[in-house]
Amino acid sequence: MEVVKDLNELLPKVNELANKLILECKKQGIIIRVTETYRSQERQNELYEKGRTTAGKVVTWTKKSKHTTRRAFDIVPVVNGKATYSHLKLFDQIGEIGKKLGLTWGGSWKTQDLPHFQYDAKIEEVTIVGEKTATEHWAEKYYTYLINNGLDIKEKRFDDKTSRGEIFKIIAIMKGFKE
Ligand SMILES: [Zn+2]
Repeated sequence: MEVVKDLNELLPKVNELANKLILECKKQGIIIRVTETYRSQERQNELYEKGRTTAGKVVTWTKKSKHTTRRAFDIVPVVNGKATYSHLKLFDQIGEIGKKLGLTWGGSWKTQDLPHFQYDAKIEEVTIVGEKTATEHWAEKYYTYLINNGLDIKEKRFDDKTSRGEIFKIIAIMKGFKE
């Protein structure tokens, strides 16, 4: 699944903070590159299976990620033109800058995620960015819950009308009805 690196795919507030982080780092002589921003729930699920049911190393411990709510981004410092993941001191420095800006840094977690930054504070403003609404739909949390509990939902739409018949069907299935 496609990796999104565009900062414009983040919520405006998070986009702004990511740009500030890049700028502040630059002022301190550190060049950083954004490696991922928005992540679809489908991609998050795919990453979660890595090292579990599919090949490779475990890369994430959660199906719930702030990347899917456009509140997180990953970066890597660039040293001599090369993305460098082994320079821990550099990550520390970047992490400190991020924290000062109000971001949560994955490097301060028990299970460290050095390249990861996210914005946890409440965002008051409601901004429409083109076609996409910058705030979470009220039903997003229910959708995420169902996805994380193994429900296979083909299309992510929230505002379709539901008929009475469909509601009867959903309740019947929940009560154990088998087709
Ligand atoms: Zn991340």
